[in-house]
Amino acid sequence: MNISGTLNIFRLIREPTLCLPQATVSTFNHLPVPLSQAFEKKDGDKKVDIRAVILDKDNCFAVPHANEVYEPYQQPKRYQSAVHVRLSVPNVYTILHIQLFFSYLTTYQSKFRALRAAYPGSKLLIVSNTAGTAGDKDYAEATLLEKATGVKVLRHSTKKPGCHPEILSYFLNTPDSEITHPSQIAVVGDRLFTDVMMANMMGSHAVWVRDGVVGRGFFARMEDRLQGWLFRRGYAAPDPTAQSQFE
Ligand SMILES: [Mg+2]
Repeated sequence: MNISGTLNIFRLIREPTLCLPQATVSTFNHLPVPLSQAFEKKDGDKKVDIRAVILDKDNCFAVPHANEVYEPYQQPKRYQSAVHVRLSVPNVYTILHIQLFFSYLTTYQSKFRALRAAYPGSKLLIVSNTAGTAGDKDYAEATLLEKATGVKVLRHSTKKPGCHPEILSYFLNTPDSEITHPSQIAVVGDRLFTDVMMANMMGSHAVWVRDGVVGRGFFARMEDRLQGWLFRRGYAAPDPTAQSQFE
């Protein structure tokens, strides 16, 4: 059970904008690199400086409970079967489906490589509510995930959204991350009440991955409804650049 998530619901009642993201993309594959492009301001006078990125794992870059970057050619059977069926009738649809199939083939893996290149060393960190938590026995999942991705997985005692002090402490202790202000951190994840809320509690930027890898579960859909309701009533996501200091 996510005790941190449950307790922080009360905070959300007081400050509902904490669950609103500063940017939204459909899937992990739609992330712009560098990530600062996701937060470009319309007035153009204030550039967002993203120096480090935190990635959620489940339903962000991986199938929930898998410890590797999603490999679409193993998953979407409908595209594989579509290619087989259409190959027997060569026409424009055959070409379109093959293109679609190969675009899926490269997507998540190549996006992950692009992020690693843009955010090397301590600048890229995986913070999951499964791998690296107290429920991950001997951190076996975190170790597997680090081997599969080449990216550090944060070991944390509190689940998201409550582990933001552990994240800030990690960045304070890794000078190569070049983080001097929490607004320089972007959190990428599929859940509004954990990933996005943590980013806002931390004074960082949030990129919400709306559709994820496997779609939305019941609780995620409830969160989405609240977000839509708030945006329709004119609420806006907090501006991390307006907040001062490292607490
Ligand atoms: Mg997730």
